[in-house]
Amino acid sequence: MADLGIPRNTIEILQKYKFTTQKKYGQNFLIDTNVLDKIIRAADVTAEDCVLEIGPGIGTMTQYLAERARKVTAVEIDRNLIPILEETLAAYENVTLIHQDILKMDVKRYVEEWGEGRPVKVVANLPYYITTPIIMGLFEEHVPLKSITVMVQKEVATRMHAGPGTKDYGALSLAVQYYSKPEIVANVPPNCFLPRPQVGSAVVRLTGYEIPPVQAADEKKMFGLIRAAFNQRRKTLANSLGNAAGLSIGKEDVERALEQMGVGTAIRGEALTLEQYARLSDLLP
Ligand code: SAM
Repeated sequence: MADLGIPRNTIEILQKYKFTTQKKYGQNFLIDTNVLDKIIRAADVTAEDCVLEIGPGIGTMTQYLAERARKVTAVEIDRNLIPILEETLAAYENVTLIHQDILKMDVKRYVEEWGEGRPVKVVANLPYYITTPIIMGLFEEHVPLKSITVMVQKEVATRMHAGPGTKDYGALSLAVQYYSKPEIVANVPPNCFLPRPQVGSAVVRLTGYEIPPVQAADEKKMFGLIRAAFNQRRKTLANSLGNAAGLSIGKEDVERALEQMGVGTAIRGEALTLEQYARLSDLLP
């Protein structure tokens, strides 16, 4: 099968099917074999692995994955890509193609059955308009995962990796760091895609924790606090949580908890570590 990582092979298949890429689906196809190799290496795909790919496009990375993994499931939303994928993946018996919106799929149930009870690896060049809901969905639904290795917008990779007190630190940083160890594996310029995206990209690997690095008695409650804190990040934590619709916590409760933690009542949400959010969650009613 022709390597679609080589630009002329991608162009040829797009022309054959008269396919035009759609912005609304975040379609930027990878046309760089070095970047594809880097992603596969970072994901450390072996013959033991079951790999879930989100958004296979014309099947470029799917081919790389299928050659190394035990089996691959690729979930694609765009019906016009399905006939193309049927051709480009015809040689691989270990690939299952699903025509679906990943955000509407019961990924947990699918992975539990298909992965035969073992955690799977997610590898994808994600559609940028829904990166955060895809990643948060995988984590919050507790899909059994070994790792997530994905291409994302560079700025999102920075946010995943950011620590307290920086401008990029927010609810996404805390959620990603609660569930996984994030690493930025590579920076990828726009000319590695067709068409070129307006932004720089980066490959991140999120290695799932078996046990989270901090313990909160009620994980949902902690993330409710984190979201409320960063919804109004210019305010003090006592004000943003005390005001938040949907949280029935008083400003005084927050101030009391912060005093118990020894951090001062004027602190802002962006200064608290993940460990401190877990503590705060346990201290609040
Ligand atoms: N993997 C291919 C590559 O690297 O060349 C394509 C990556 S492209 C950035 C994103 C892909 O995700 C597109 O094929 C797009 O149609 C698909 N996609 C967009 N939204 C989706 C959704 N909600 N569910 C599943 N696939 C989606």
